[in-house]
Amino acid sequence: MTFNTQASQIVAPLRPEESKGLILIVDDTPHNLQILSTALTKQGYQVRGAASGSMALIGARNISPDLILLDIKMPGMDGYKVCEQLKAGETTQDIPVIFISALDDALDKVKAFTVGGVDYITKPFQLAEILARVENQLTIGRLQKAQRQQNERLQAEVRDRIAAETQIQALNAELEQRVIQRTERLNQEIAEREKVQALLKYMAMHDPLTNLPNRTLFFNTLKEALQAYREHSDQSFALLFLDCDRFKAVNDAFGHLVGDQVLVAIAQRLKNCVGDHLLARLGGDEFTILLKNTPQEQIATEVAHAIQQSLLKPFQIDGNEFFISASIGIVMSQLDYQQPAEMLRDADTAMYRAKALGKARHVMFDTSMHEDVQSSLQLETDLRRAIERQEFILNYQPIVALETGKITGFEALVRWISPELGFISPGKFIPLAEENGLIIPLGEWVLREACRQLRAWQTEQLTDIPLNMSVNLSVKQFSQPNLIETIDQILTETELPAHCLKLEITESAIMENSDSAAKVLEQLRARHIHLSIDDFGTGYSSLSYLHRFPVDTLKVDRSFINRLDAADGNTAIVQAIVTLAQTMGMDVVAEGIETTGQQVQLQKLGCEYGQGYLFCKPVNAELAGEMLASGQHTLG
Ligand code: C2E
Ligand code: MG
Ligand code: MG
Repeated sequence: MTFNTQASQIVAPLRPEESKGLILIVDDTPHNLQILSTALTKQGYQVRGAASGSMALIGARNISPDLILLDIKMPGMDGYKVCEQLKAGETTQDIPVIFISALDDALDKVKAFTVGGVDYITKPFQLAEILARVENQLTIGRLQKAQRQQNERLQAEVRDRIAAETQIQALNAELEQRVIQRTERLNQEIAEREKVQALLKYMAMHDPLTNLPNRTLFFNTLKEALQAYREHSDQSFALLFLDCDRFKAVNDAFGHLVGDQVLVAIAQRLKNCVGDHLLARLGGDEFTILLKNTPQEQIATEVAHAIQQSLLKPFQIDGNEFFISASIGIVMSQLDYQQPAEMLRDADTAMYRAKALGKARHVMFDTSMHEDVQSSLQLETDLRRAIERQEFILNYQPIVALETGKITGFEALVRWISPELGFISPGKFIPLAEENGLIIPLGEWVLREACRQLRAWQTEQLTDIPLNMSVNLSVKQFSQPNLIETIDQILTETELPAHCLKLEITESAIMENSDSAAKVLEQLRARHIHLSIDDFGTGYSSLSYLHRFPVDTLKVDRSFINRLDAADGNTAIVQAIVTLAQTMGMDVVAEGIETTGQQVQLQKLGCEYGQGYLFCKPVNAELAGEMLASGQHTLG
């Protein structure tokens, strides 16, 4: 085997797995290299050689030997230097270095160890010593390597574990954060849901306009109050049912927005009057009040009185002034009441009684009212049937010129002759028909029948004087949107000239529909249909509407005519009405003339026309026709 200075040359081709280790021998003396190489190869080591320090460094980096045998004394770079550089190199620092020194060399052992050597061998070689030292160092190297690897593994494991733990901690923190956020979100959602639920509950129990308790809440509270009263009779209470008078007129004249504002203002006043007692808005212009601990009627009527007093002051809304009165029904707790609806029904009945008595007042319920209601319910049933069976006829009362006594026309007056009940006065069934809407079909029938009758008399040519027919029009009819259409249709159907028709309406019909009234009246005027104000003087005190509307005739109410006979000769009102009519170019018809004294007085006052038992009672069509046919035009 030969050596050259090339460190890469393999001295003995051993396969790595058979080798006991790879040893790099560095010596500038080929002989030494040879000896050592042979000996070590024989022992099963793989050996490479390098003849100089610089070759040794290259070889060490390239082949990564398990051990280096390094001669100290070499030309150029000595062994210490080589060792220093090996220890400084990253890939070579762990290779154990055994120094070889000749016996005569001054071996600096301290330096050998300082520069990183692990052992030293002195020449001439003791082969056994070399082998033992090499074997030692390789074993130590192996052990150290194993230890290092073990350490590295452990460190890696620790690192991994720390990394894993850090990751887990981060995950935990994130999870915790998410849980916190979720909980917060959930809490927020729950709070919001609770808020919405509370709001919904509030809305279900309160009136959105006035914020007052609504019908449901009032009913519930009333139910509880009734229950408590049944269990402890000292827990008596009173119920007030309040309805604003003529509130519809406010809505019609100023619109619902203003109407709503007025309602809010009314609610506020009521609240001030009732203090801690329960005040509710039942709907529309209806309010209810539950007065707890109210054993005496007097306390309840005092509250009602206080409310009415508080409403006397006008309401200022949007620059307008509103006077609102209210009708109040009162009912006291009684053991008979099982259900809140029963008590409310009776309070409502008492309230209606207050309205019927002239509004703006309060009425305490008593059981006789209940009977009245029942009989009027019965009457309503009968009335419906009467319309189906056509149990109505028209009577005609002549309207005469007071000066001559000549008939100028008739007023059509409806009569109900029931096969079961006999004659029923219109004063009784007309208000009922107004209330339940039956006046619409009934009124239409009256209008058609009256027009047809006058047209029949005209075509029969019973008389040559121009007659007109007065037909009463109820408030309800007047507010029907298709009123004009109906009239047109009837006039076409019956062929009665429009100027022969005179409609009688009351002041309230105009006032309660004041915005639509003007339009309707203009349309009537355009058709030459005449218009009378019936029962003039008994309704509104304001006369300003007369300027605004095209009115032809004022019919002075019978109550004023009655008084003309009295000893004190109370003529002032009639005089005023006649003067008013004359200055405004209207006719005056006096209603209910029963005596010649009244007739004379009226003539003196300048009243031109009249109607009354003195001339003729309302008669059926046949009699009226006969009167016309006989030429008996002059009455009185
Ligand atoms: P009104 O329109 O003021 O009619 C006059 C009422 O006075 C009639 O009563 C008539 O019979 C009565 N009367 C006439 N002359 C005299 C008299 O000299 N003395 C007395 N004591 N009474 C006299 P009636 O027929 O009972 O009608 C009462 C009210 O019923 C009417 O008052 C009118 O408001 C209403 N009415 C009658 N027929 C109709 C109708 O067809 N439609 C509508 N909407 N209302 C009607
Ligand atoms: Mg009339
Ligand atoms: Mg009248």
